[in-house]
Amino acid sequence: MRILKFGGSSVGNAERINNVIEILQKYYISKKLKFSVVFSAFQGVTDKLIEIGNLAYKRNTQYTAELNALIEHHNKIVNQLNQKNNINQLIKKVDKLFTELKEVVDGVYLVKELTPRTLDYIVSFGEKLSCTIIGETMINRGIDCEILFADKLIKTDDNFGSARVDFKKTNKNIVSYFQRHKKIQVITGFISSTSNNEITTLGRGGSDYTASIFGAALNAFLIEIWTDVDGILTADPRKVKDAFPLESVTYEEAMELSHFGAKVIYPPTLLPALHKKIKIVIKNTFNPEFPGTMIVEKEKSPKFTIKGISSIDDIALVQVQGGGMIGVSGIAARLFGALAKHNINIILISQASSEHSICFAVLPKHGNIAKKIIEEEFRIEIMDGKIGKVEVEKNLSIIAVVGENMRHTPGIAGKVFGSLGKNNINIIAIAQGSSELNISLVISKNNLTDALNILHKELLK
Ligand code: ADP
Ligand code: ASP
Ligand code: MG
Repeated sequence: MRILKFGGSSVGNAERINNVIEILQKYYISKKLKFSVVFSAFQGVTDKLIEIGNLAYKRNTQYTAELNALIEHHNKIVNQLNQKNNINQLIKKVDKLFTELKEVVDGVYLVKELTPRTLDYIVSFGEKLSCTIIGETMINRGIDCEILFADKLIKTDDNFGSARVDFKKTNKNIVSYFQRHKKIQVITGFISSTSNNEITTLGRGGSDYTASIFGAALNAFLIEIWTDVDGILTADPRKVKDAFPLESVTYEEAMELSHFGAKVIYPPTLLPALHKKIKIVIKNTFNPEFPGTMIVEKEKSPKFTIKGISSIDDIALVQVQGGGMIGVSGIAARLFGALAKHNINIILISQASSEHSICFAVLPKHGNIAKKIIEEEFRIEIMDGKIGKVEVEKNLSIIAVVGENMRHTPGIAGKVFGSLGKNNINIIAIAQGSSELNISLVISKNNLTDALNILHKELLK
């Protein structure tokens, strides 16, 4: 069994969906390969649904026009993909979904409330619509498949917007469902539900994760993530035009690259696959003959020491300084404990060896909140002058240089700093994971594109 996943970029319009169905026919169905397939919402639809929810919440009546445009967009695709004579059932299903969606959004408008719970319910329609339309189209073309709304099977906590999976229940549900359903399953990505059957979502980009959850539960032979580039590239191709696809990377390298901004795979995806040692391949829907990138446990003879350079474009750096921190144990624990209590996600930490300062990176929206939390936690130390001012610096980016073999290769850090120094790019903070899998640097956002291209040229030749 293989689990395939096609992202929004692969199903952006009728032509692309036709292309995907042809790929299924040519490479899987005609070869009698066993598979099921996960789909994301059509490209741009999740963003649109969030926008519609927010317009309704702000009592902006424009939401109706936006909703009508979305209905039209889906209906157009239905009509382009199918002949008039066998389209009725599909039209009915799509209408029903839009009626439900309209009810919720009208409700948001009336009560002026948009909770994370309601927003998850609203965005879930993106995947329900895309799978219904693609699945019914496949059936109309004689492919023996069934549509599966995965919220029925993937069980999570109630952390709406980015729910955590209960693997015990989920795996059991998936295994038992597939024992009873032998046809090809056309599965909604991204969506899940709580034990009370309220819809949750797995985080933006979460359809990759859905594929991995199903793949791991079913002990799939392979998980295939089909997207719009030739695999995992050495850098984001939108920023580094010399970026090239890698034949293979390890789970850990893929995890680091994606954690530091390589959107091509959603970071949690790696874990269920790694756990069961199931390989993941990233393939290009627009270049299906290209082998893509294989994510494996270990590489026999890696071609490159550095596998890639990724970036988080916009972060804030919080600096805590003070002589009172030197040699005092537990400061870091209190600091990060207080932030964790408020769900502030720390992207990178760096501490000078003098222990005189700790700095860490967070999303810009968390910068000032983090400052407040720290000032509250260390109120007494600040009053006593043991800890100085807490400062937040914005308009910064993080660059991560990733590669497992860096740990056996001296001089990489020197090369990184040297090449940036030569080009007058100032490094504001540095962190290196203890596994030496990655060196991360904080630089000014203005320098990001230059720095990426300089490092790519220097390290990946
Ligand atoms: P999908 O709709 O298939 O889920 P995404 O837009 O989520 O696709 O992810 C694919 C995109 O990720 C690519 O189009 C590319 O612009 C971007 N990307 C960023 N970094 C990388 C990288 N290192 N390798 C490949 N793609 C990357
Ligand atoms: N449709 C969801 C999103 O846009 C999930 C996904 O595409 O992976 O985030
Ligand atoms: Mg994606």
